[in-house]
Amino acid sequence: MYDLKGKVAIVTGAGRKAGIGRAIALRLAQEGADVVVADICREFEEFPGYGLGMWEGLQETAEEISALGVRGLPLRVDVTDSRLVDEMVAQTLDAFGRIDILVNNAGGVVGPAPVLAMDEQAWGKTMAINATGTFLCSRAVARVMVGQGRGGKIINISSIAGKAGRPFLAAYSAAKAAIVAFSRVLALELAPAGIQVNAVCPGEVDTDLQRWGWQLEASFRGVPYEEVVGAAAAKIPLGRLEQPSDVANVVSFLASGESDYMTGQAINICGGLVMH
Ligand code: NAD
Repeated sequence: MYDLKGKVAIVTGAGRKAGIGRAIALRLAQEGADVVVADICREFEEFPGYGLGMWEGLQETAEEISALGVRGLPLRVDVTDSRLVDEMVAQTLDAFGRIDILVNNAGGVVGPAPVLAMDEQAWGKTMAINATGTFLCSRAVARVMVGQGRGGKIINISSIAGKAGRPFLAAYSAAKAAIVAFSRVLALELAPAGIQVNAVCPGEVDTDLQRWGWQLEASFRGVPYEEVVGAAAAKIPLGRLEQPSDVANVVSFLASGESDYMTGQAINICGGLVMH
């Protein structure tokens, strides 16, 4: 366990029960941080039916955090809207007075398709949720961190899709690669302020988002869901699907003082699927 007592963290995209964001938020809270959990809490009007975190899930996670003896605060945010991002940061400061850790976890894949059939709006939305959202939240929080003069940690959730190409996921892969490049630049710019910026690249994590992806693949290929999941697991050198806690373990290290000499890295957490 790491010591995050007295630190304040924001984790975006933490509203879904089986999600990586919730696992990270609970892990940071177990290590002593007060945690703001933020999510969109409404449907995308232009993509109805796309799975997103809702208020009830966010509130439950905040309650679980408070039950650990630290403070949990649920907030609504659309990470693609700079006004709402600034509001999230202002509400965090009102409630907790400081920000030490930002985990840009909100993300997703809208309208996966082969490039030749890819819808322009779906491309834009996927870039916005993943890449623009990471930029807007990082900018708003880094301004606060620099002003505080106490350093800080920014951890961006990329994906191995950002390192290795994945059919049907051009927008997602491009956005996650953008997050890696953005993290490197931000790491250089914020190094003098003692703020470390790193990205992590998970692999095949068993979450609602990934299950939806496996389901789409199963219906597209006309094979049973279990076959797709089994094949995904069989490709992983460490021999099992990834769990949200596998990601939370590494993120909590990056949020702690134990990683103070690391910045600008993009660390694979994928059971050995990708090694570069
Ligand atoms: P998830 O769907 O549980 O989490 C994504 C969260 O982001 C959702 O709660 C969603 O509501 C939120 N979100 C989406 N758009 C938003 C917006 N505009 N504003 C605020 N919140 C928004 O899925 P997950 O698998 O836990 O994914 C978490 C992160 O991990 C994502 O960035 C995802 O791309 C990344 N990732 C997941 C996998 C995987 O295999 N599941 C692999 C690599 C990377």
